[in-house]
Amino acid sequence: MALIVQKYGGTSVSNPERIKNVVRRVAKFKALGHQIVVVVSAMSGETNRLIALAKEMQAYPDPRELDTVVSTGEQVTIGLVSMGLMQAGLKAKSYTGAQVRILTDSAFTKARILSIDEQNISNDLANGYVIVVAGFQGIDQTGNITTLGRGGSDTTGVAIAAALHADECQIYTDVDGVYTTDPRLVPEARRLKTITFEEMLEMASLGSKVLQIRAVEFAGKYKVKLRVLSSFEEDCEGTLITFEENNKMEQAIISGIAFNRDEAKITVRGVPDKPGIAYQILGPISEANVDVDMIIQNLGVDGSTDFSFTVHRNEFDKAMEILKNKVQGHIGALSVVGDNKTAKVSVVGVGMRSHVGIASKMFRSLAEEGINIQMISTSEIKISVVIDEKYLELAVRVLHKVFDLDQEPA
Ligand code: ADP
Ligand code: ASP
Ligand code: MG
Repeated sequence: MALIVQKYGGTSVSNPERIKNVVRRVAKFKALGHQIVVVVSAMSGETNRLIALAKEMQAYPDPRELDTVVSTGEQVTIGLVSMGLMQAGLKAKSYTGAQVRILTDSAFTKARILSIDEQNISNDLANGYVIVVAGFQGIDQTGNITTLGRGGSDTTGVAIAAALHADECQIYTDVDGVYTTDPRLVPEARRLKTITFEEMLEMASLGSKVLQIRAVEFAGKYKVKLRVLSSFEEDCEGTLITFEENNKMEQAIISGIAFNRDEAKITVRGVPDKPGIAYQILGPISEANVDVDMIIQNLGVDGSTDFSFTVHRNEFDKAMEILKNKVQGHIGALSVVGDNKTAKVSVVGVGMRSHVGIASKMFRSLAEEGINIQMISTSEIKISVVIDEKYLELAVRVLHKVFDLDQEPA
C-alpha cells in the first residue's frame, strides 16, 4: 500500500465527463489498496474568467479581493470531484486550502506556503476517505485567503505530498510528460523519460509551465518523488524527475529548451557610473514587490553607463512608473526606456558542465537566422537570451534542431 498524491490540472477537470475520468483513475488506485489525496485546479479557463471579471470592477484589482475571487474556481472542482467519487461508491471529502490549513505568507496573488497542518487529512485517510484538496490556495496568519501564483496547484500537490510523506506525487496534465520543449510549439519535441531535478528547476524557472517552479523547489527540498503524466492516457510512464545525474538514461548535452513570452526589458540610460547605483535603481523596484530577472550593467564611458533589467510583463507598467517618478530624477539618469515585446529563450542541460562550445553554437545559430540577441545570462547548466518576441518561435525551432533534440540521444 502506498500513499499517493494525484494532482489534476484544469483541462483534466474541464467538464463532468473529464471529472468522471479522474474518478475512474482514483477508483482504480484505491482498488489496488493505495491511499489517495487528489489535488485539483479550477476547470480550464475558469481562473482567466475570474481574473477578467475582477478587472471589470477595478483596472488593477485589489490583490486581497482578487485572491478571494480567483480562489473560488478550485472550490467548485473539489466539490464536484468529491461528488463523483461518492457516486462511484468511494468515501470522499473535500478540503479548501483554509480547511486544511495551508498556511502561507500574505503576498496576495503569489503567496508562499509556510506550513501545512496534515493531521485532519491523515486521520481521514486512515478512515478510508479519498481526500480532495483545492490547489492554488491557502490562508495567511490573519485568516485572509491567498493564492500561490498561476500554475500554483502543482505546488499545492507537491507540498501536500511532502507534508504527508507520500510515496509519490503524480502530476496529471494534458501532455504525457516533460518534453524537450513545449510540444505545442515544436511538434518534433520528444518526451523525456527522466529529467534531473536541477534541469527541471531551470526549465520551470525559465518558462516551461508544465510544472510551477515552486513545486519543483518543494520536490527538491523534501525529496518528493515527482512524476508528470497524461490524464488522458492509461498506463503511460510519463516523466520522472530524478535526483541523481548518474541515473540519467538519456545522456544528451542539452535536455531541453524553455521559453518565456512574459519578459519585459527596461533600460535606465545615462546613469552615473558610481557605487550604490544598482541599489538605488533596484531597491524601489524590490520594495514594490516586483521580481527582477536578468540584469546587465554596461561598462561606463565618460562616467556614465546604461543599466538594463527584465521584469514580468504584468509588472512592466508598475516598474516603469517607479523608475520615472522616483528613481530617474533622484539619481540624475538621462531617461528610462522600456520594451515589453521581448521574450526569453533558454537551452538547459547538465551536460553543459562537461562540454564547451554550447554558447557559441547557440549564438551562431541565432545569428544565421538574423535574430538579434539583446541580453544574455548563463549559469552552469543553462544559457538564456532575450530577443524580440516576434522571433521567439523561430529561435526555439532552430535551437531544437541544431541541438538534435528531435532525435533520441545515441
Ligand atoms: P495543467 O492545467 O494540467 O496544470 P498546464 O497548461 O499548466 O497544465 O501545463 C501543461 C502544458 O505545459 C502543456 O500543455 C504544454 O503546452 C506546456 N509545456 C511547456 N513546456 C513544456 C515541456 N517542456 N514539456 C511538456 N509540456 C510543456
Ligand atoms: N487555476 C490556477 C491557474 O489557472 C492554478 C492552477 O491551475 O495550477 O493558474
Ligand atoms: Mg499548470
